Amino acid sequence: MSQAKGYAAASVKAPLTPFTFERREPREHDVAIDIQYCGICHSDIHQVRDEWGGSIFPMVPGHEIAGIVRAVGGKVTKYKVGDKVGVGCMVDSCRHCEQCARGLEQYCTEGLVLTYNSREHDGAPTMGGYSNNIVVDENYVLRMPDNLPLAACAPLLCAGITLYSPLKHWNAGPGKKVAIIGLGGLGHMGVKLAHALGAEVTVLSQSLRKQADGKRLGADHFYATSDPKTFARLKGSFDLIINTVSADIDWNQYLTLLKVDGNFVVVGVPEKPVPLAAFALIMGRRSIAGSGIGGIQETQEMLDFCGRQNIVSDIEVVPIQKVNEAYERVLKSDVRYRFVIDMASL
Ligand code: NAP
Ligand code: ZN
Ligand code: ZN
Repeated sequence: MSQAKGYAAASVKAPLTPFTFERREPREHDVAIDIQYCGICHSDIHQVRDEWGGSIFPMVPGHEIAGIVRAVGGKVTKYKVGDKVGVGCMVDSCRHCEQCARGLEQYCTEGLVLTYNSREHDGAPTMGGYSNNIVVDENYVLRMPDNLPLAACAPLLCAGITLYSPLKHWNAGPGKKVAIIGLGGLGHMGVKLAHALGAEVTVLSQSLRKQADGKRLGADHFYATSDPKTFARLKGSFDLIINTVSADIDWNQYLTLLKVDGNFVVVGVPEKPVPLAAFALIMGRRSIAGSGIGGIQETQEMLDFCGRQNIVSDIEVVPIQKVNEAYERVLKSDVRYRFVIDMASL
């Protein structure tokens, strides 16, 4: 075992405070990583506040991890000391179920191990990236783009893949009209990625406050959802709408913005069940679906795509001592567009 330093929540809704814990010694297939940066995802806040139930404390959050390989186990073939690597939302899975065999480890039915607030196969609780190091099996480690700054790439590991995967699955590309609801951490990556894939991109934001940013990030159109005219004007417009918002919004209203056969894809996680009117789906053969992060192979594909297209996250780097303040600002949508913790501050 080796010691790790980080920040943890001791109990539900407790502020994050300094915390020391153990990491396992690297096994044959493990990579030991010195963490340099970790993004702050809204999911970290949901879990620290136990909004999804079953949270495990003490909790070291963080699943947008970027760092440098410090050591490798004897049988590691994919990485060597000094490589720029990343770890996203998962660190293991069963490796034999139908989903794992298809490269959809995120939907593993028999043993998904999330990066934190989860348990290893031996029962040990996992601790995430708000810390100075992590030990992960090489098959769940990603290679970071060499040509891009590591800090701004950290958010690709959750926010990036969470938008890339549904954009690819529902064929966002030339000739397709895509709307992104919510210009936050996930949403701003959705705009950049959908634009790079060649789709016509619309941002649906609460107000026009972020309009200039939206256009700069690659949006063709930008509308305020607080303006009722927006819904009349955009009726039947989109092939694909991706909803990144976790607040209660009326999904039925957004379904009317889909074309016939359009898809409304949920990635944001509201705390309570959402009421749905059947006619919003029936009239137009519309579909509603969900999407969770992406598999390891697809995450690597997304990182390579970002490397080729020079796509990074727009970030505000913060020292770890400001993490609680950063959480409050995320809750107020006061971040442009992702906080990234500089682990040197530990
Ligand atoms: P975020 O940075 O806080 O962005 C959410 C955005 O939602 C805000 O920037 C804001 O955009 C909009 N919003 C906030 N309050 C709103 C309100 N009351 N009404 C309407 N819109 C509102 O959060 P994030 O990190 O992108 O995460 C978003 C959600 O996705 C979270 O629930 C998170 O847990 C979930 N998530 C899911 C996956 C997955 O695999 N499915 C992965 C990661 C995260 P505007 O200011 O533009 O309106
Ligand atoms: Zn996340
Ligand atoms: Zn599996």
